[in-house]
Amino acid sequence: MSVRIEILSGLGDKGPAAIVVETQGKRLLLDAGGALHPGDTITWANQVDVDAVLISHDHIDHIGSVAELADNLPLYCTPLVANSLPKNRLWRPLPERGTLDVEGITVTTGQAGHSLGGVWLHLAVGNGVFYSGDACFESLVFPFDTPPKAAIALLDASYGTFDQPQSACLHAISKHFTQPLAFPVPATGRGLEMALWLIEEAETRELTLAIDPDIRANLATLLAMPATLRRPGIDACITHALARGNDENATLRLVNDRDDTPEQWPDHRLLHTGYLTPVRQAQLAAGEISWQRWNVHLRASHLQALAVQLGATQVVPLFTSLNDQALNEWCTLLGTRLCTAPMFTAHSSNHSSLGSFA
Ligand SMILES: [Zn+2]
Repeated sequence: MSVRIEILSGLGDKGPAAIVVETQGKRLLLDAGGALHPGDTITWANQVDVDAVLISHDHIDHIGSVAELADNLPLYCTPLVANSLPKNRLWRPLPERGTLDVEGITVTTGQAGHSLGGVWLHLAVGNGVFYSGDACFESLVFPFDTPPKAAIALLDASYGTFDQPQSACLHAISKHFTQPLAFPVPATGRGLEMALWLIEEAETRELTLAIDPDIRANLATLLAMPATLRRPGIDACITHALARGNDENATLRLVNDRDDTPEQWPDHRLLHTGYLTPVRQAQLAAGEISWQRWNVHLRASHLQALAVQLGATQVVPLFTSLNDQALNEWCTLLGTRLCTAPMFTAHSSNHSSLGSFA
């Protein structure tokens, strides 16, 4: 059996995700990412020819180009992710954790530790293909499920070879509490865990806090899901967060990111914790905003550990620069497992196990 991987977008920079896996005469598209920067045009979707599309999660760089695809193309995603599809787009359910048949291919999903309703995808073709979508081991609220073995691993390397633990990130964020802060965040991702952390910090430090209603609604959704779809031991914290009102004129404000600008927040300093668009990079360079990462992607040692756990022989670091220096670092981290080809074919026999790939 041969498996052909074609990375239409997402290789070599932090770009929209779109990967085709072709096997058994079928072509599956993993994610349909849209532009990360307003005004950018997407070209990967031109004349894309696939049998079905699977969406890992609802962030724009993974779901934003669904409207560019044919309306009748079968589309699979979890019910929560379906809330972010274009209006009236038909879809079929992916389990949050489970197995289903897509075009004759067994697809396994598991929790990716990154966002509400987000999953990783494993395809039982060849000696296994694993696609992490966006993934993280360190979320305070979203669990990460151990995936089945896979010879080919397409992994979230959004942070490059950065490897700072979340505890160090949180410590660095807390150093900014000397001034009024607004945190614009994705409401289905880190917003949920930041809400729980900020409540604890605000109560310990006697600071006032307001949490965006969208983030509160998503916390309620998470609490209503089966308990195995969230980290153990957090239910009381979520219940407390939902019961706690917003403080008037709060010093700390956790807000659903709507392209907030410093001008919109004259009384607060904007503290960003994720990917910065070029406009925001310029604001940071000009000293108009602050930035400190809150980990929501795999850091280097976790990506490395995941590659080993999968038994992967070909590991593609996605969504990151692959300039010469980065390539050297990835070589050191992944050795002969490193694969940076936009297109490659792996062959396996039915009797072989891992390591038989050409
Ligand atoms: Zn994401």
